[in-house]
Amino acid sequence: MTDADDGESSGRVNFVDLAADYDLLRDEINDAIQRVLDRGDFILGQDTTLFELEFAEYCATAFAVGVDSGFSALELLLRAFEVGPGDEVVTAANTFYSTVRSIEECGATPVLVDVDPISRTIDPSLIEPAMTHRTRAIVPVHLYGHPADMDAVTRIAEAHNVLVIEDACQAHGARHRGARAGSLGDGAAFSFYPSKNLGAFGDGGIAVTDRPEIDQRLRELRNLGSVAPYQHERRGFNRRLDSIQAAVLRVKLPHLDAANEARRMVARNYEVALADCEVALPQTAAGVEPVFHLYVVEMKNRDAVASRLAALGVPTGLHYPVPIHLQPAFTSLRLGRGDFPVTESLADRILSLPMHPHVTLEDVDRVADGLRRISNVA
Ligand SMILES: *Cc1c(COP(=O)(O)O)cnc(C)c1O
Repeated sequence: MTDADDGESSGRVNFVDLAADYDLLRDEINDAIQRVLDRGDFILGQDTTLFELEFAEYCATAFAVGVDSGFSALELLLRAFEVGPGDEVVTAANTFYSTVRSIEECGATPVLVDVDPISRTIDPSLIEPAMTHRTRAIVPVHLYGHPADMDAVTRIAEAHNVLVIEDACQAHGARHRGARAGSLGDGAAFSFYPSKNLGAFGDGGIAVTDRPEIDQRLRELRNLGSVAPYQHERRGFNRRLDSIQAAVLRVKLPHLDAANEARRMVARNYEVALADCEVALPQTAAGVEPVFHLYVVEMKNRDAVASRLAALGVPTGLHYPVPIHLQPAFTSLRLGRGDFPVTESLADRILSLPMHPHVTLEDVDRVADGLRRISNVA
């Protein structure tokens, strides 16, 4: 990624570049970790408390509760709202495993609906037909860092008096009509998995909400149902965010907006460079500021293209190759091929190109050259 790199003849493009992220903030991060080591407040220490305040302020929510993963953030939010056995939760068929699994884990029944082919997020016109008297919540997923159609989702939720819990695990800093992802519903879950837009040095997550009683319940749930040391009011779990991870995240949070802007610049560069390639580029809905967690294009002959790109030193990914309803882990949902045609067609056509804040113009040209050469051959 240095200026001296000769993109023509050497090197390869990185799909993500966590080492470059660390390098930019190396001294600050090392010092922050060292301070935790010196204090020894490893569990629910001062960095966790301060990071919660800072992340809530960033999202413009009243509260944030640090947990051990995005999965836990989703599950504990649903539990805090007392969503459980007998309840149904509507979410998108085109998502990561954890969205659906966390709904199942709190005891509720996930109800999948297909996505819109342009935004690739939940298709609002399919939500109401999927609702029953058991529906308690809608979980829109801001997939690839592009917020779902929250105007429509909110309208439906208000009309039926159900909750909206955002899966914002890929959308730290994204905006919908000016408001941050995380502030668009009754609660929201974020993941700090290392490769997310805001990543820790291990697992981590956070749940945000404006409601004081939900904040309180989340604090109990993540910490063994405990309201005071050795006093367990309710059944709880061990799902806390480590102080060391919080310390790292506190250093990185002030740089998140710049990193997201760099991702948007990479996306603009792809848009120009790929204009004459036979691929469908990601679209941004009106009023949305996406954060490009992933840059996912669509094409025919995806598998052949991916393997030829790999041979040219361009790594790619598939997010996701097998839809939730076709996964062996979810046969209990009793769904099958043909149930979600848009999601199924995406699974065959999508290709995630290298996307991170350090993708250079040379990298983008290299990807575009590769795609052009391949389509000439094909
Ligand atoms: C990463 C992710 C999760 C889960 O987060 P973890 O921290 O890995 O548990 C949930 N939903 C989506 C859409 C994600 O991308």
